[in-house]
Amino acid sequence: MDSGKEKLKKELLRAIKSQEFVLYYQPQFNLTTAKFDGVEALIRWRHPERGILLPADFISVAEESGLIVRIGEWVVKTACKQNKAWQKKGLPFIRVAVNVSGKQFQQNEFVEFVMQTLQKFQLKPQYLELELTENIIIHDDDEKIIHTIHRLKKLGVQIALDDFGTGYSSISYLKKIPIDRIKIDRTYIQNINANSDDAAIVRAIIALATTLNLEVLAEGVESLRQLEMLISQDCKEAQGFYFSKPLPAEEVEKFLIFYQNNPFL
Ligand code: C2E
Ligand code: CA
Ligand code: CA
Repeated sequence: MDSGKEKLKKELLRAIKSQEFVLYYQPQFNLTTAKFDGVEALIRWRHPERGILLPADFISVAEESGLIVRIGEWVVKTACKQNKAWQKKGLPFIRVAVNVSGKQFQQNEFVEFVMQTLQKFQLKPQYLELELTENIIIHDDDEKIIHTIHRLKKLGVQIALDDFGTGYSSISYLKKIPIDRIKIDRTYIQNINANSDDAAIVRAIIALATTLNLEVLAEGVESLRQLEMLISQDCKEAQGFYFSKPLPAEEVEKFLIFYQNNPFL
């Protein structure tokens, strides 16, 4: 690791100890029920000198140094605790989705960790979703990974395949692993109105998901035009700046309460 990365690694260690991380939550909209029924937890770093940092500024060093395991555990715990707090306050029950990195997922005790966390916060497993990327799934010893996903599924947590369409051979393993939801990568959504190839790919992914009985969520929806296109293609769920940016817990709570009583569309 070069000196810049070493410095960042030291700072990350401090950040873990002094609790400088915070989760923001981005609402997920169900197009069938016209309600927000989930949020994705996205990590932010409240850096004492540099202000709020985004994952792009630190996740790769966290991965490289292995600190992502501890950070990721904090993310799972915090998201479960928060979701339970919302339930206790009487908010509509929603899923909280958490991004899981490869290193974290490959920990031997990962399934036990998830189970204990759910127990600790008394959160029913169906309200936790783990977002995995294709890169995690297509790994050398993928038998072990497939086994882990089956164990998680048995626990009752939901599994989403993140950034779908950006990895390798996105199709064959869909039969082997029990996933609940495909998240169509936002690069396809970006050009859905302008590029007929991207529109065709999105249509094909939605058709594939529907055939395989999987939920399908479009990421990075920024405009009504994009949303209309997705609705016309029978997409079931959407997430993006058009609905809301990722928000701190108190703000997403107000957002969810407001749209519980007021139609978004
Ligand atoms: P991701 O999982 O694909 O998360 C979606 C990213 O797209 C988020 O960026 C979100 O703010 C952004 N986004 C949402 N809607 C829109 C939109 O309409 N337009 C555009 N242009 N962007 C949109 P963010 O929060 O900077 O996160 C970036 C990546 O960092 C995430 O990509 C995820 O891979 C990773 N990440 C975030 N939180 C965690 C975490 O707790 N653990 C791990 N391992 N990775 C995380
Ligand atoms: Ca994600
Ligand atoms: Ca994504």
